[in-house]
Amino acid sequence: MTREERYASIYSHDIVYCPPQEHGCAMLEVALGCSWGKCLFCDFAKDPFHVHSIEKIEENLKVLGELQPEKERVFFLGENALCLSTEKLLRIMALTKQYMPKVSSFAMYARFDDVQRKSDQELWQLRQAGLSDLHMGFESGSDSILTVMNKGFGSFEMLEGAKRLDRAGIGYFFTVILGLGGRQYRNLHALETARLLSRMHPKGIWCLNLKIWPDTPLEQMVKRGEFEMMSHWEMLQEEWIMLQHLNVENCFYMDTTALNQYTIQGFLPQAKQAMLAGMEELLRRSMPQ
Ligand code: SF4
Repeated sequence: MTREERYASIYSHDIVYCPPQEHGCAMLEVALGCSWGKCLFCDFAKDPFHVHSIEKIEENLKVLGELQPEKERVFFLGENALCLSTEKLLRIMALTKQYMPKVSSFAMYARFDDVQRKSDQELWQLRQAGLSDLHMGFESGSDSILTVMNKGFGSFEMLEGAKRLDRAGIGYFFTVILGLGGRQYRNLHALETARLLSRMHPKGIWCLNLKIWPDTPLEQMVKRGEFEMMSHWEMLQEEWIMLQHLNVENCFYMDTTALNQYTIQGFLPQAKQAMLAGMEELLRRSMPQ
């Protein structure tokens, strides 16, 4: 087997996705799919949920350790790898350090209910073992929208979860979906998302325009006229309202889908006014006639 073939052999799919903030770290597949898998807009969780055995993970770690011995950080693949038992996660972290001795930190995707199921003691143990950051679908701060979209948790669980992660010293990066409330909840989405985010300490916020994926329940809602999709211009306008009301510290903010073609990014709070001005300029230039 060539080096490329050996590398490809440790992943279930030809293309391996990880959050942009984690590009450059080693990726270890610990699970496939999402243990929830019921968000109406979601197209990411096509694989049936499955957690790999320790034996399979160890086999793959041997290959990863040989191919990428210099890596210092490992991202655990799986749509919400934090749903694995703490015992199993700690075992995988220990094995990773055995095969990749330079590794000192870990990151993974997580849902807020995964955090809720862990005790403070467990979160502390994971932090001590090197769990540095979680990447979480925040989506919206509005309970109405989270309920309609069947997210499976609400703003109370999110706020409590974030406070517990803060206490454990585990960082968190969020994705926010612009337009997720459709035209019906437009201002509510912007204001409640900003309000909830402002009570937390995310290291990063990544905004993405809502996309209606084929064969999702949300696509059916659109076809039945139950969800009114916003235009890209309206989503940028919604984002402007959200950013204007957003007050966070030491947070890297980015929108990679502004008007479906531009990227806006900067550190908050320093770059807030510049980003708002950039959005205003884009809105002015592309104002619908
Ligand atoms: S938690 Fe994430 S991966 Fe799972 S169904 Fe919802 S959006 Fe999809």
